[in-house]
Amino acid sequence: MEKKTFVRKEQIEEIVKKYPTPFHIYDERGIRENAKALKEAFSWNKGFKEYFAVKATPNPYLIDILREYGCGCDCSSYTELMLSEAMGVKGEDIMFSSNETPAEEYKYANELGAIINLDDITHIEFLEKTIGKLPEMISCRYNPGGVFKISTDIMDNPGDAKYGMTTEQMFEAFRILKEKGVKKFGIHSFLASNTVTNEYYPTLAKQLFELAVELKKKVGVEIAFINLSGGVGIPYRPEQEKNDIYAIGEGVRKAFEEVLVPEGMGEVAIYTELGRFMMAPYGHLVTQAIHEKHTHKEYIGCDACAVNLMRPAMYGAYHHITVLGKEGAPCDQVYDVVGSLCENNDKFAIDRSLPKIEVGDYLVIHDTGAHGYAMGYNYNGKLKSAELLLKEDGSVKLIRRAETPKDYFATFDQLDIFDKFKF
Ligand SMILES: *Cc1c(COP(=O)(O)O)cnc(C)c1O
Repeated sequence: MEKKTFVRKEQIEEIVKKYPTPFHIYDERGIRENAKALKEAFSWNKGFKEYFAVKATPNPYLIDILREYGCGCDCSSYTELMLSEAMGVKGEDIMFSSNETPAEEYKYANELGAIINLDDITHIEFLEKTIGKLPEMISCRYNPGGVFKISTDIMDNPGDAKYGMTTEQMFEAFRILKEKGVKKFGIHSFLASNTVTNEYYPTLAKQLFELAVELKKKVGVEIAFINLSGGVGIPYRPEQEKNDIYAIGEGVRKAFEEVLVPEGMGEVAIYTELGRFMMAPYGHLVTQAIHEKHTHKEYIGCDACAVNLMRPAMYGAYHHITVLGKEGAPCDQVYDVVGSLCENNDKFAIDRSLPKIEVGDYLVIHDTGAHGYAMGYNYNGKLKSAELLLKEDGSVKLIRRAETPKDYFATFDQLDIFDKFKF
């Protein structure tokens, strides 16, 4: 599929007059259409709820848009819980899916009335010690081990993942929790990441539904919900085909009818914790080419770097690049598109075929709406960029200002040595 930008060159030339590059910009229309489609695709399930994975894009303006479509927040840390509380999200609208959780985070999650999702059987005791009486409803995270396959394709390797409880531990945990007075149970599992196939959720769902039936029969517990978590991916590469969320919803429905309904479990709610699928395609990192360099390779140096988008440096992830205004031009040059960190892995693209780039051109790096800004850091004293929202009416709103040196120095005790900078 051709990768198109949601902004044109002329728009960016206007925007940079007020907000200089680099910045992340998000497409309100795209976010809304996608959130609506997800809701429709699972409307067959009465209790369906998407808990947006806050870590993917922790910006309250963006999460507020999702809340209009019934989304809650999936949190995994103290500050993510704070962000949710500040936005007025509380109680069962928060899923707390953490791991290696500090006691004060459990305490806070419990005070907010969040649904607590335990990553390990030992956390039952830890939680009880921390908060006293356990809540009425608890979820446990499942990891069957081995590899996760769809027919013969290996999708991911849960056996290597630090998360979740084994099958035996799930039964044991549910027994213990029931004994301790827990009344309602959830099952959570995240077995493959960034899947670009309509089969991931239905395959996972079937496994979890079968486990739920066994847990109900053998332990005698009430299963309130099944949380399919994240992992529905997006086509970062032009040759990949987009997931069809309606086909995914229908696949999960079939498994539900096949496994749960005959067992009298037709009331079980389906939850999701999607991050990437909800936001990634609706964010661009916009950067300007500021240098070109001809040595052993051809380089384009831009004003963004890996602190703005870490995925290429960290995972070798592909992010498509469009040179604004040159959409139709032949891709007859081969470049490394690089940032300014003193790290040779600071490359947004390696040996990428692109149109001829001039210094001053604006580049759009695609699919940065999730795990983009959020993974940012301050290495080399680089500052985090602004985040902008392109609204449906075409106007642009600043939804997070860029960092300034003052932010960078703010955690020193002795701020007075910086006084002369008057920032
Ligand atoms: C990261 C994460 C998600 C979101 O994953 P995506 O790949 O962005 O969909 C959901 N749940 C948990 C517990 C996570 O850690």
